[in-house]
Amino acid sequence: MMASDHRPSGDARPAARRQREGHSLVVVFTTMSPTLPRSLSPSRVTSFTDCPLAFRFRAIDRIPEAPSPHATKGTLVHRVLERLVWEHAAGDRTPAVAAAELDRAWADLVDDPRFGSLELDEGARAAFRADAAQLVENYFALEDPDAVEAVGVEVSLEADLGGLRLRGIIDRLDRMEDGTLVVVDYKTGRAPSPRFERVKLTGVHLYALLCELALGAVPVEVRLLHLREPVVITAYPSPQTLRGQRQRTMAVWHAIERACEHADFQPRPSGLCAYCSYQPLCPAFGGTPPDLVPPDLVPPELVPPASVS
Ligand code: SF4
Repeated sequence: MMASDHRPSGDARPAARRQREGHSLVVVFTTMSPTLPRSLSPSRVTSFTDCPLAFRFRAIDRIPEAPSPHATKGTLVHRVLERLVWEHAAGDRTPAVAAAELDRAWADLVDDPRFGSLELDEGARAAFRADAAQLVENYFALEDPDAVEAVGVEVSLEADLGGLRLRGIIDRLDRMEDGTLVVVDYKTGRAPSPRFERVKLTGVHLYALLCELALGAVPVEVRLLHLREPVVITAYPSPQTLRGQRQRTMAVWHAIERACEHADFQPRPSGLCAYCSYQPLCPAFGGTPPDLVPPDLVPPELVPPASVS
């Protein structure tokens, strides 16, 4: 990566520092090379390949994203399904218990100021909760939770890949009767159409690679439980898919390095723009990205909590 040259055109103090000191003078950085992220997760790989500019805002500028009903609902449903399997013994994992867990998670959620910031009126809240309940109910059409032997939920893994730190969180890691491992990932969005299924499974194989590197064991399956349809999409990792995934991951990492060196993160408009918090900063929507600011100069109040999603 190029050495950073953060010389501003005016006041020698960086803009972010002066913001912290209560000044509002705008500083234009003449040269800037952003700092590489220290690690990469499956969602960050997907983020960069979906849209390099959104990746920059998220992983390099670390601009907090506005909470969205979609993401908030996903978090709620994940919590319910994780507690169902982790806090209740096989035999007790019934739809009624899941509904009670939804009540519990909902009570926590409505007290969260981030949920309040969604500004849902009474009707929208009721629709939000009913949809979450439907997703939880749909789960039971996809698997029998009493047959699940989970070795962990929200399993955090980290490993080194050719000098790159890979990290990720697996929704659930199961052990089968023969001792083999299965990765389970809950999805609350729409399942990809068959045309895009192979592309979307690319990220899935990264979970398998992470297991191989961190645990020394390749899962025999990676199951995506799409709760909305509901449908299960299963990927079967093999030496070939793992080799391909190593190459693709390193290729994405090198592309990120190049983008950082040239401070060049292009927008890639797609259907995902409809859900993107960064539209106001995006040239594709008439916005202007801020000058690149190294992460250590981002004001603390703008830095979101560490996330490995
Ligand atoms: S609005 Fe679309 S093109 Fe712009 S940053 Fe977001 S995802 Fe990328």
